[in-house]
Amino acid sequence: MNELIPTTLTAEAIKEKALSLGADLVGIADGALMDQYAPDPLNPRTPSHITEYDGGRVIVLAKRISFATSRLPAWNDQHKFYGDELLISALEELALDLVFWLEDNGAPGLLIPYHHVDPLKFVKGEDTQATYPLSAEHAAVEAGLGTLGLNQQLITPEYGPRVILGLVMTSADVVPDRKMEKTLCLGPECGRCLKACPADAVQHWDRDWKACDKFRSPFGFEFLSDYLTGILKEPEQEQQIAKLRGMESSEIFQAMLRGSGVITGCRRCADVCPVGDDYETLLKKWVDDIPEETPEKLERLQVMTEATLPESYHNQKRWVGDL
Ligand code: SF4
Ligand code: SF4
Repeated sequence: MNELIPTTLTAEAIKEKALSLGADLVGIADGALMDQYAPDPLNPRTPSHITEYDGGRVIVLAKRISFATSRLPAWNDQHKFYGDELLISALEELALDLVFWLEDNGAPGLLIPYHHVDPLKFVKGEDTQATYPLSAEHAAVEAGLGTLGLNQQLITPEYGPRVILGLVMTSADVVPDRKMEKTLCLGPECGRCLKACPADAVQHWDRDWKACDKFRSPFGFEFLSDYLTGILKEPEQEQQIAKLRGMESSEIFQAMLRGSGVITGCRRCADVCPVGDDYETLLKKWVDDIPEETPEKLERLQVMTEATLPESYHNQKRWVGDL
């Protein structure tokens, strides 16, 4: 279990520094509580699973995404313009600056990668490729930044789900934030995330993560390993070369340049979510209409509104909040 160490720093000073470095939101979660409440008890990824030394506090940083990219209607438009990839890079630099500032002040800081695939643990057909070392969304809830929505996306009062998150762990003994108790999500009566989802991955307080992966990370680890396996299985060298010169190689090249389609991809559910101070003036007019809506999706939402709360809600209630 992580032990806290005395520090001259305060939570307020850490937050002030993070905001001055460019964070739009910052909160501090209690690592011990995160150890106690693993989001997935069958695969408990908590601060103590990463380190026994510096996971007493988890600083959660958030930067808002550009609202102009949310106005682009197609699910795969955003990563074409590299906006999200650049934002992730900026957030990582910000987090690294915070790490060195903490350490200059005598408090250790450990940057936790938000996007990480462990190929040795990835089981094709079983795993989602996004089993990150620590769930940034759950950490953000513990840090008081928001609550989880119908599809388990993080929703904040300021920007709804339209934020990218960064994590820094520290053992500095500073006062953590408290999580919100009441949900920010408007539930299946809203259901805009479900209506817009191209993968039809949004479920009743849950998400089909594997279906979602094909859109939020279309050229991710699974795509790459399938592609390379397919080439190796071609019996003729000419066919192998033809595949290597194909469109898929080009997609992988683009992904290698910037990470587009690997660490970023679909975020339609975030773009259309009506929660957030930014929604009414900056987004509503442009994203109100949802072309992906179908009668079948509307019917599923109707069933959800009339159903009793499913197990998935009870499993995630701590982070979804009271309805
Ligand atoms: S990221 Fe895209 S595919 Fe995944 S749940 Fe959201 S809308 Fe659906
Ligand atoms: S779109 Fe509606 S249902 Fe979906 S997360 Fe946002 S508020 Fe909840």
